[in-house]
Amino acid sequence: MGETCLTVSETLADIAARRPVLKPVLEAFRPLLETRAALRAEVEEAVAAAVTLPAFSAERAAQGVPLMAGLSLRGLAAPLRTAAERVLPLLCALEAPARYKDALEALFVKEGTASEQVVEALIAGNEPDFRRLAEEADIQPEVLAFALDFIAASVLRALALQAQPAEGEAPWNGAAVWTQGYCPVCGSLPVIATLDKRVFDEKNAFLAGGGGKKRLHCGLCATSWAFRRSTCPSCGKQGNEVMEILRESEGANGERLDWCVHCKTYCPTVDLREREAVPDMDAMALGMLHLDMVASRKDLQPLRPSFWNMF
Ligand SMILES: [Zn+2]
Ligand SMILES: [Zn+2]
Repeated sequence: MGETCLTVSETLADIAARRPVLKPVLEAFRPLLETRAALRAEVEEAVAAAVTLPAFSAERAAQGVPLMAGLSLRGLAAPLRTAAERVLPLLCALEAPARYKDALEALFVKEGTASEQVVEALIAGNEPDFRRLAEEADIQPEVLAFALDFIAASVLRALALQAQPAEGEAPWNGAAVWTQGYCPVCGSLPVIATLDKRVFDEKNAFLAGGGGKKRLHCGLCATSWAFRRSTCPSCGKQGNEVMEILRESEGANGERLDWCVHCKTYCPTVDLREREAVPDMDAMALGMLHLDMVASRKDLQPLRPSFWNMF
């Protein structure tokens, strides 16, 4: 639609220019974010050769079943290894993961198919299984989750591309098809939300309008989906008094937190109507950590804890 979408580095540069205090953190994570963005295309062929996503079914979606639910990920060990070889040297430059360097290499690079089981447990949201597998691999579960945010994410993003239409809206964005706060493709909770820009579409009168439609963005498989503004993506409560907005009084640039008065969960949100270009969503989520700090002082919980507030 002729929108300018910024890359990871352009988005980080833009944030650093406006908030110099964040620069050291942005720089620390820049190589990881850039590598993950590049890896999707690099592993795409190997992923497609190993696993095929089932066709989208509106019926399954209406029941809240994500596309990857129950899918066997056998065969993904090879692309997971490719991703790990690129990601682990960068990850192990950080203190917490560095302590598990050998164990992480054994899990993703040296050995057989244990990495596939770990990613299956992640997709299934099976916490006990995930913890057991982390223990067997001698890796602290939080560190393993952090590693997967880059290693598994690269591979799952390539897999999720199979579900994306060449153009137009994705099938899960049809009216009343997908109403969940978790990702329709991988089932993960969103890291960031956006409110659409105003839309000008000469061909489709339905799409033209004032914008402001809410979309949630998956930090794992990078899928985005439409979601009702008056509903909490965490507890599902609906109504005009459910969601509150927290934003700085000046220079907010559309950046804010949308939080639920019932479950006290928040999701960072960017109102794209207040910005020129569309930022890279992963870089933008990191760039809103000043608001994460405000939220933490107010005892609000992030909808999906991110790597920068895990350590
Ligand atoms: Zn996802
Ligand atoms: Zn809630």
